[in-house]
Amino acid sequence: MFSISTFFLYYVPPHFIVGTIAMNKLNFSVDYEAYEGIEELAANDKSLCLDAVQALNTSWSPYSNFKVGTAVRLAGGEVVLGSNQENLAYPSGLCAERVALFTIGAKYPGAIIESMVITAHTDNFKITTPVTCCGACLQVMAEFERKQGKEIGVLFYCIDGKVLKVQGIKSLLPFVFVEDRLGNTDLTSHRG
Ligand SMILES: [Zn+2]
Repeated sequence: MFSISTFFLYYVPPHFIVGTIAMNKLNFSVDYEAYEGIEELAANDKSLCLDAVQALNTSWSPYSNFKVGTAVRLAGGEVVLGSNQENLAYPSGLCAERVALFTIGAKYPGAIIESMVITAHTDNFKITTPVTCCGACLQVMAEFERKQGKEIGVLFYCIDGKVLKVQGIKSLLPFVFVEDRLGNTDLTSHRG
């Protein structure tokens, strides 16, 4: 005869049966180069770091007091600068990286980006490690890589300090949003 007590004795809720759930634990690894200072860099990368420092001068950052400068080198040798541009309506501002990249999109359509440097400065405290990019900028950088079919070298420069160098945005944003079925997959046809 079935009884309530018998039911609870033999019933095992599904969420307790964990041994049958298939799960693979995976990981990403990132290759990057670390330099103690810009003196260790190749001449063109060192020069680009100094350009990024110059870009700090155009930062409009009265709210965060955190200046960010970017210098982007194109295959033709041109260097395009960008700096963070803040706004009283905070979300309306834009990071230095995207300011530079969208300038390139508008002014140098079809240009190939070789490398870019990001640096930062604030009077409020001493920055002791290289400042890296936000996720939104990484997604935009990934779009430029897709468009040009070539990886971008990214350097993070701590002024008077260390430099980190990464080749390719995938290393910085391994789960980058990609969906080739959206829009035209032949991005070359959209180059200016
Ligand atoms: Zn950003």
